[in-house]
Amino acid sequence: MKKIVALILMVILAALPLMVEAAGSLDTHFACAFLDIKFQCGCTRTGTGAMISRYGMITAAHNLYCSTHGKPLEYCNFLFGAKSASSGRKRYEGHFTYRVYETFKNGYNSLNDIGYVVFESPIGNSTGWFAWRAANDSYLKNKFVTIMNYTNNARINSYYSTLSVRNNTQVTWSSVPAGGEGGPVFYQSADMEFPEVVAVYACTAADGSAVGCRITDQLYYDMKADGAFN
Ligand SMILES: [Zn+2]
Repeated sequence: MKKIVALILMVILAALPLMVEAAGSLDTHFACAFLDIKFQCGCTRTGTGAMISRYGMITAAHNLYCSTHGKPLEYCNFLFGAKSASSGRKRYEGHFTYRVYETFKNGYNSLNDIGYVVFESPIGNSTGWFAWRAANDSYLKNKFVTIMNYTNNARINSYYSTLSVRNNTQVTWSSVPAGGEGGPVFYQSADMEFPEVVAVYACTAADGSAVGCRITDQLYYDMKADGAFN
């Protein structure tokens, strides 16, 4: 009997992502989490993260390490599909691990301001998740993308802009979203079933343009090694 229950559960778990596919669209708001963050140095901030697998969420590194003091998280609360700082469609309070590509030991540096969270349970089965692409320069150049982020009071914003390649790890665009960084920069054409994340919103540059850190092959390999796609 137990075996049958386990088998049914497995079938249900396997079927859930297909239900998302069958819908032919992703609720991008639900797949984005409002982050309520405190670091071990005592600093607090809010930010945005985006699910890109059942277990994996990408965000800016400065949401996981304090960009002023180079200290890791004391805690981070995740509210998916947030409507306000205290209400939303799903809250995650379980365990998670994380990895960053910049720890800000010498202050803020935007070059590798990207990182990811691996949740202990497959929260993506509820929220859905974005497709993603480690895109090359020619793919990214002049792409018309959407940038999503939560404001400090947890209201979701969508911006639309054309990308330029800044360097090997960054893209840039003219429109600057206000509020919590770490949200997805994604592309979707009419023939694509799912929006495809190509970068995360990292910061505003000195000239006022916005900067995003690109999804890299390394990110994919590391997430795979950390079990983010199990
Ligand atoms: Zn700090």
